[in-house]
Order: sequence, then structure tokens, then C-alpha cells
Amino acid sequence: MSSPNVRGGSLAPVSHHRGLRVSIFNGDLVNVPLLDLTAQYRVIKDAVGTRVADVLERQQFIMGPNVVELEAQVAALSHARCAVACASGTDALLLPLKALGLKPGDEVITTAFTFFATAGAIANAGGIPVFVDIDRQTFNIDPEAIAAAITPRTRAIVVVHLFGQMAPMEQILPLGERHGLAIIEDAAQAIGARRQMGDSWRMAGELGWVGTFSFFPSKNLGCYGDGGMIVTQDPSLATRLGRLRLHGGAKQYHHDEVGTNSRLDAIQAAVLLAKLPYLATWSEARRAHAAAYGAGFSGTSNVVPPATEKANEHIFHQYTVRVPVGRDALRAHLKQRGIGSAVYYPVALHLQPCFSELGYRLGSLPISERAMEEVLSLPVYPEMTDDQQGYVVQTICEWTP
Ligand SMILES: *Cc1c(COP(=O)(O)O)cnc(C)c1O
Repeated sequence: MSSPNVRGGSLAPVSHHRGLRVSIFNGDLVNVPLLDLTAQYRVIKDAVGTRVADVLERQQFIMGPNVVELEAQVAALSHARCAVACASGTDALLLPLKALGLKPGDEVITTAFTFFATAGAIANAGGIPVFVDIDRQTFNIDPEAIAAAITPRTRAIVVVHLFGQMAPMEQILPLGERHGLAIIEDAAQAIGARRQMGDSWRMAGELGWVGTFSFFPSKNLGCYGDGGMIVTQDPSLATRLGRLRLHGGAKQYHHDEVGTNSRLDAIQAAVLLAKLPYLATWSEARRAHAAAYGAGFSGTSNVVPPATEKANEHIFHQYTVRVPVGRDALRAHLKQRGIGSAVYYPVALHLQPCFSELGYRLGSLPISERAMEEVLSLPVYPEMTDDQQGYVVQTICEWTP
């Protein structure tokens, strides 16, 4: 997708239009939200309507054939033998962490620069989160930092494929093997992302002991409520996780272990089945937007575009730049011009009040701390038009810190 307006557009002052703050770009009113799910819905409305109406006709709302079909499709997409749907991306992390049977004092290594759920699930499963720093270029967990944090109490590593590109699994998997650690891939932001390892492409989620996905509405594949999925190559683990999401019983009213209620609704599975055929095209559109941003920002030092490792095919769940000077001022400027943006994440997890007793301080993980001061995520949703993107680029390039 080319963006003819990235450089050549003309920008007029901000005005108000039906309550929205908008600007004139190439003679049109432009407003660019961070994400526009209504634009997506206009495209998929009929497919979703047919699938959801079918569930309503059958009146079977919990689990059922749609969930089984979705599990099969997500397993196939992820090159995994098995998939277990559950109630959220958070539960997709929590159920396997519980299956580890962590004892008091057991440690789980993870990145400090991620959504809270990654570490919250570790704590809720009875583990101690051990936070390590990230790679400066990709924002992903640093394998050398993992290696340095391993102790005799370490039981698992939760790797996050942040913003839609995979972490360097070829460096992380051997650590797990050498020390007997379970590797959990938090792929909530990376469904369909892949990485070249040796001669083959490996999918996000296929390499770990388990991989986990979130279907939260704003994720690249989102449902109309909460939803999640676990994938694994281990059929007996899948059977156990399938029980844990149903109060720990294979047979109703017979319980082998204490699980919880973490099922996926049939309506959510129907929505996801309707959307799944579009996912590859949407990821392609996100990559095209990222490329256009890269070209558009080549002449400015206001922002530093994100780096994609050569081995990775990124799905750009977020397009996250660094703003070396005046990040919050740029964000306010964009807001004033009708452009949505967000800071993922403003407080690294080792500095969260709930983890204060773990003993981290400002300065403990300097690369994560620098990132939280500098990052800014820009609109990269598939339906964003060339004019909208051109307007974002021009607004950023014309800004003076
Ligand atoms: C969204 C997200 C989760 C949690 O998913 P929910 O479905 O919101 O519970 C976990 N980890 C990461 C990295 C996420 O982005």
C-alpha cells in the first residue's frame, strides 16, 4: 500500500466538527483514532451476523461446536497440536502457571516491560515474579538478562512477544532445556507473528511448553467481550488444562483437582471464527502502514521508528516509536489535532506499588525505565486510510519539541 500523501499533503488549522476535534488535510476533515473497530465492523458485519445468529438459533451459549472449531483453527494457525480456549488472555497464562504447582518461594522470570497480566498471573499462581530488562531495539525480553536471573528456585520463564514481534526464542529455549524450566510464550499481542529459525518459519506460540493468546477486543484478533486461548504440543497437558478450565473435572460433578470456571462463550467463538479469515490481510495492512511510517519519519528526529529484527515477521499489534525529547508534549499535540496515541507502558512492572516488597528500585532495570519515558504508540489499525496516515506523519514531522 503506497502513501502518496505522506509527504505531499497540506494541513490546515484545527477545527471542531460534530464534537470531534478534527483537522483539514487535503481538503478533507480528518480524525485518526488509535484504533477504529467500527471501521472493521462495517467490513465483517454480515459474516459476524450470520455466525452469531446461528448460535442464537441453537441457544447453546457455553463452549460447544464453535469453540471446538476455533480451537482447531487457532492450533493450525500456530503450528500447535492442541488448543484450549478459555475466558481471557489472563486466564490463558494463569491456568498453565497453576498447572506447574508452584511452591512458596518458586520464581518465574519475566520482562518488566509488558502488560500487567503477565506478572499478575505469576503472582496469582503463587510464584514470585523475577523481572529482567529488555532489548533496547525491540523492547522484547533480553535473553542474557534471563540467563543472569536463573537461580535454583526458578521454575519457569514467561516470554512476551511484545507489540507483535517475537522474542529471540532460539536463545531462550536452550536456557529452559539446560535448567529444566517451563517456557510460556505470552503471545497475546502476537497471533500470527512468526520468526525464521534455521530454515523454517516458527509461529508465535508453537515453541514453548505453552503459548497463550488474548481475544480482548483491541487485540489483532479480538472478540466482543473477553476471551483467550492456550496452545501446546503436549496432548496430555491440553487435556489437563481443558479440565482446569471446567473446575478440574473431566466428567461433570467429578473433580480430579481444583480448577476454575474459565470457559469461552459460544458467541465469542462465533465472532472469532467470522474474523479469523481476515487476520492475515489485516496483518499485511498493519505491516504496510508500518513501512509507510518508516518512510515518512526518515527525515525527522522527532521520533525514532521501531526496529524489526530481520528474522521476524511483525504483526504490529502496536506501532511504537521512541520520542527522545518531549514525549508527553507530542502526545498532547496529537490529541489536540484529533490523533489518538497511547503510552504502552508508562510504569514498568518492577516499579508497580503491588510489587514493592520485591525490592526493585528506580535504576534496577534502566532500559525498561528509559522505554517507559520515551515510548508512544501511534494508530496502525488496518482500516486507517492513506490520508489519515499522511496526516499523522505530517503532524508529527511539523511538531517542534
Ligand atoms: C492483553 C494482554 C494480556 C491479557 O489478556 P486479557 O485477555 O486482557 O486478559 C496478557 N499479556 C499481554 C502481553 C497482553 O497484551
